[in-house]
Amino acid sequence: MNKNLLIAVFVLIIAISGYVAFTNYQSPEDTEASDKITALSTFTIIADMVAEVGGDKINSISLTKPGAEIHGYQPTPDDLVQASKADIMFENGMNLEVWTEKLRASIPDVPVVRVSTGVEVQYIAEDAYAGKPNPHAWMSPEQGLIYVENIRKGLTAAAPEHEQYFAARAAAYSDKIRAVDTKLAAALGQLPENNRVLVTCEGAFSYLTSDYNLEEEYLWAINSESQGSPQQVAKIIEVVKAKNIPAVFCESTVEPRIQQEVVAATGARLGGVLFVDSLSPADGPASTYLNLLEHTADTIISGLTTN
Ligand SMILES: [Zn+2]
Repeated sequence: MNKNLLIAVFVLIIAISGYVAFTNYQSPEDTEASDKITALSTFTIIADMVAEVGGDKINSISLTKPGAEIHGYQPTPDDLVQASKADIMFENGMNLEVWTEKLRASIPDVPVVRVSTGVEVQYIAEDAYAGKPNPHAWMSPEQGLIYVENIRKGLTAAAPEHEQYFAARAAAYSDKIRAVDTKLAAALGQLPENNRVLVTCEGAFSYLTSDYNLEEEYLWAINSESQGSPQQVAKIIEVVKAKNIPAVFCESTVEPRIQQEVVAATGARLGGVLFVDSLSPADGPASTYLNLLEHTADTIISGLTTN
């Protein structure tokens, strides 16, 4: 009897240890990875916002890399492979990512969330894009909050079991965006009345300048092949001279060559690199959306206030 009991216990121990061995076989990382939603965004800024809301329930991937020009981007065969892994896709909309058309056709079952839905749209006044929406709404923290809400809704639809988790993270992130908004208003509010003109390469700052009561001037409305014509350069040279503007700026995704022509003709300085269509690499000054906003204000202020 004792022998039988011993065998039974032995078998039980083997069974338990076998079970334990089996569960340990899948590493926690593997289990998590298979549970996570893969969220594909068209560019780095949206991918960062999606990562903030999604936390450890998602893998957030950006199709374009830091520094990429995102208006006229051409998807690569690799991008199509990335897209095929997506459970959900996030795009800005407002004519920014017309290049995703083919890519989206290759993943017809993947839901696409347009994060700018519901923003207060500003329209482009001139050039080939006159009358079209200006797509750079994320440069206004106030509009950025609408992006966060659209992201929260999209992720919740994709993984309703994490509804509370996404809601809590979206709320905490929105508070941080509001805090940056307050900071930017205070900082940019200190620029003197006669020194509140932001001159950039692309007209990508309309939302920011209207939020913080700055005047906006730019070489061209939207990055495209026709940027930097002699007429565009002549117009800005005239403005910089007439308003005695101390510094002009260009963006990280654009060659500053044309703005240097303005510098050479006017004596204004090149005030630094602004980040608008892309985050910086991780070790740079604009590695997150929140850092990007703060860096924008710092760069404008130091450009326009130092002589
Ligand atoms: Zn742009």
